[in-house]
Amino acid sequence: MSKPCILTCVERPDRVHQERLLTFLRRKYGKMDQELEVRLDPELLGGFTLTVDGYTYDYSVRGRMRQMGDALRSSEEAPKDVEALVQTLRREIQDFHPKAEAMELGTVLEIGDGIATADGLDRAAYGELVRFENGTEGMVMDLRADSVGIILLGDEAGLGEGSRVCRTGRTVQVPVGDALLGRVVNALGAPIDGLGPIHAADHYPVEREAGGVITREPVTVPLQTGILAIDAMVPIGRGQRELIVGDRQTGKTAIAVDAMLNQKDTGVICIYAAIGQKASSVARVQETLKKYRAMGHCIIVSAAAGDSPSLQYIAPYAATAMAEYFMERGRDVLIVYDDLSKHAVAYRTLSLLLKRSPGREAYPGDVFYLHSRLLERSCRVTKEYGGGSITALPIIETQAGDVSAYIPTNVISITDGQIYLETGLFFAGQRPAINVGLSVSRVGGAAQTKAVKKSAGTLRIDLARFRELEVFTQFSSDLDKATQQTLDHGKRLLELLKQPLYQPMSVSRQAVLLYIATQGLLDDVPLEQIRSLINGFMEELETRYSDVLAEVQKTGDLGGVAIETVRAALAEYKSRAAAAQ
Ligand code: ATP
Ligand code: MG
Repeated sequence: MSKPCILTCVERPDRVHQERLLTFLRRKYGKMDQELEVRLDPELLGGFTLTVDGYTYDYSVRGRMRQMGDALRSSEEAPKDVEALVQTLRREIQDFHPKAEAMELGTVLEIGDGIATADGLDRAAYGELVRFENGTEGMVMDLRADSVGIILLGDEAGLGEGSRVCRTGRTVQVPVGDALLGRVVNALGAPIDGLGPIHAADHYPVEREAGGVITREPVTVPLQTGILAIDAMVPIGRGQRELIVGDRQTGKTAIAVDAMLNQKDTGVICIYAAIGQKASSVARVQETLKKYRAMGHCIIVSAAAGDSPSLQYIAPYAATAMAEYFMERGRDVLIVYDDLSKHAVAYRTLSLLLKRSPGREAYPGDVFYLHSRLLERSCRVTKEYGGGSITALPIIETQAGDVSAYIPTNVISITDGQIYLETGLFFAGQRPAINVGLSVSRVGGAAQTKAVKKSAGTLRIDLARFRELEVFTQFSSDLDKATQQTLDHGKRLLELLKQPLYQPMSVSRQAVLLYIATQGLLDDVPLEQIRSLINGFMEELETRYSDVLAEVQKTGDLGGVAIETVRAALAEYKSRAAAAQ
């Protein structure tokens, strides 16, 4: 028995008309047992709609009005004055030809909390964009036997049980292109910075399968964050995914923002995806980028804490779609997901509202897939596929330093390393509060600048030795000379790794500082004078030997001549400083 055709109209047609329609349908669809069900709906205003086989053909007055409304909305230019408006209206009405489009309509069964359940959308696909009768859009997230679950991407006002929802046949897309640079947009790519409309180059699907191994290239080009501790010990390469993990208020966002500031004039585009952050924090990031004139190469995608879980869920995928546009055109992109813990919570909320059963820690079973399909899209592609890269810095917030919780362990296993921040270090004044022992970068070493790499190995070992001795010797008063020396050396190295906010370091500065510190050339300087000494010394080096530094910056190597110059200049500077005291 086939499903009955549904004829909806304002007034019930007489038997003769019904019979005629039924005969036509039976012939056209070749089903002799075809039934016709008549429903009345005065809101159609006139005409009728016919639903056959899941498709609805709209011949109603309301449908015509909607079509005309769409046509008017999509007319290119916004009319400047009343005269132009009248002209546009007249032209649109004259040119208007109603179409009996075949729409796939569904009916809302229940709606609330940003989730709708609808029936009738038999052919809807996962991730498909659907449109409700009030213009609100939604995304199909759950396919069930006789209904679909939809997450709303807009306002649910005016919608209720019985509201109509229409398939669009396409997935959710966001605008992409250069026009987005310098802008703040929401998770759907609509501007929220009040700087006018964005003329996008194209639209890309929010969800997309990550490229296969054939499209990928190993990481070989460094992505300088300008943070000495990171560039020296957990180097990041273009196309790498490096997790920033730590408790709340440990400087996670600060590291990401510093890295974005350092991309100024390097050609790397930065995308900051704020997920579930306070609107004030997002505004602060924007202010900082603006203040340091870095907004020009940045895009901020914001789904703040006040936005719906649906938008928070989509935001990182939307941001990645924007990044993919640039990657395909050979550009390098740095993308920050701040933060994925809140993303997982948003997804958990959606899943529970969609009545999916909770799993470990109340997260749905597919929460690993949530982040792995996101982070797999960050990579470096070969020339044939555009030759660009997406470097990802996902951020995860831990509770009481517990990295072994579900979400942190998931993301640690997906990424190519992690930068672990610690509250204890942060409050002890060691900022950025990077735990050197637990932070790793699994692929970035291949891309590290030569000059920095040379000293970095020593740095790691010296710090490890220092940490070990520090624990052993904290209660002993008399230490032998060698132990004392190792401790003094370690303290100076830690002092060197302290770095104030928003002051990224150039490669040459990093190379010089690392060299003099690991060579023990600072060991005779009192600890409290280290900062002023290196600042003063670097300033002098920059004025007197700018050519040497420029060479180091260009080649990324600290050669024999440069080393001689640095050593001599430091000796001279130190003796002058000593004489002045
Ligand atoms: P949240 O968990 O709230 O997102 P977070 O871990 O992202 O916090 P931030 O907001 O980056 O932390 O930083 C917290 C505070 O620490 C800020 O007030 C920031 O100014 C300060 N801070 C971060 N890094 C440094 C640094 N290197 N030097 C001095 N202050 C810093
Ligand atoms: Mg933060």
